[in-house]
Amino acid sequence: MDQILGQILRQGVWERLDMLDELASHADASSLASVARTEVPRLTDGLRALLAAHEPDSRGRCPECSGRWRPRRGPCPVWRAAHDHLVTTETAAQQARRASSGHETSRMPAASAR
Ligand SMILES: [Zn+2]
Repeated sequence: MDQILGQILRQGVWERLDMLDELASHADASSLASVARTEVPRLTDGLRALLAAHEPDSRGRCPECSGRWRPRRGPCPVWRAAHDHLVTTETAAQQARRASSGHETSRMPAASAR
């Protein structure tokens, strides 16, 4: 049952993200502004909540990504992904496109631990 609920939950999130991508690509300017005012704060609130759950502890370990026998020092994959998508000037998708076109890629260094 938990597996079904998890699948429904994930599907709902993916569909919401797809809908927002569709709006960003095809909505007219006034609709886009209206959607941005409501959806951008929801997205930033959600990302803040996610990052708070992955905030390193006093020893620099992520409480969510670390296992009992396998501590993971920060920045964990969640923080690296957030940095790559919010701070790095070139997204992973752009890098993949550049790599497939045969051009060399350049990346900014990953964020350091807090
Ligand atoms: Zn983590």
